[in-house]
Amino acid sequence: MKQEKKGWRELPIGLAWKSGTSKEFETGDWRSDKPIWDAQKCTHCLICWIYCPDSAIIVKEGKVQGIDYKYCKGCGICAEECPPKIKAITMVREEK
Ligand code: SF4
Ligand code: SF4
Repeated sequence: MKQEKKGWRELPIGLAWKSGTSKEFETGDWRSDKPIWDAQKCTHCLICWIYCPDSAIIVKEGKVQGIDYKYCKGCGICAEECPPKIKAITMVREEK
């Protein structure tokens, strides 16, 4: 027997969010590992900033200032891409 399906107007309002920005989604809660940035080692080449998929590397006037943990998901790409001879970012286990 064919089941009657609801039309879209009868469906409950879901989780669709207003478009245009992801600023309101603080995705840092998902993190299990955390990047630690070493200001002494950093040469401000900005490779980490280019690669970070969450725009979580804070840069002011061309220099890295730190990591925005509200949005950093802990993927580790920044640590992977920071030049091996510099290694200014290391990943550590997140403490909650
Ligand atoms: S761990 Fe991933 S999300 Fe966090 S700052 Fe590094 S590249 Fe960006
Ligand atoms: S990739 Fe490493 S050295 Fe380059 S800006 Fe980022 S933390 Fe600094």
